[in-house]
Amino acid sequence: MDQLIIPSVYRKPYGLSCHRDALPWPSLFLLPATMHCPFCGANDTKVIDSRLVAEGEQVRRRRECLACGERFTTFETAELVLPRLIKTDGSRQPFDEEKLRAGMQRALEKRPVSVERLESSLVHIKHKLRATGEREVKSLVVGELVMAELQKLDEVAYIRFASVYRRFQDLNEFREEIDRLAREPVKE
Ligand SMILES: [Zn+2]
Repeated sequence: MDQLIIPSVYRKPYGLSCHRDALPWPSLFLLPATMHCPFCGANDTKVIDSRLVAEGEQVRRRRECLACGERFTTFETAELVLPRLIKTDGSRQPFDEEKLRAGMQRALEKRPVSVERLESSLVHIKHKLRATGEREVKSLVVGELVMAELQKLDEVAYIRFASVYRRFQDLNEFREEIDRLAREPVKE
């Protein structure tokens, strides 16, 4: 089972930059069987803690280098194929999770939403994209999925994203959206 898990990124531990875990981003692409130590390059690293995060879609592992004793954290995700995106001009692009994450983080800046919840939203979006069973989907579909997730996470972030994404045509439309949100019951 471990062999199926491809550590795709060493993810910067957002908001936890107190010790050596805070490696410069971007940094490592690591192989599962031979997890190199990011400090000394040794192959002998030991997993000292392992737990599922992001609704079981990621494994967070604390590792310790047996050579230099440094500890570091990896977030490992199984890579599954996602549909390519069809841009409005008809060009095709590969799905880019980092870009999606960055866009949502921008909308969520300084909002009280945990990284864990953002990661769960990304998981939902990817699930839905895979569930289409399509090899290509319109990038608009992704935009709508992002808006649906942001709306659940934080209304301010949703408005920020939607105001850019939908390019509200005038202030009235923007106003209506805010009024509509104000009438909706608070979620979670
Ligand atoms: Zn080391």
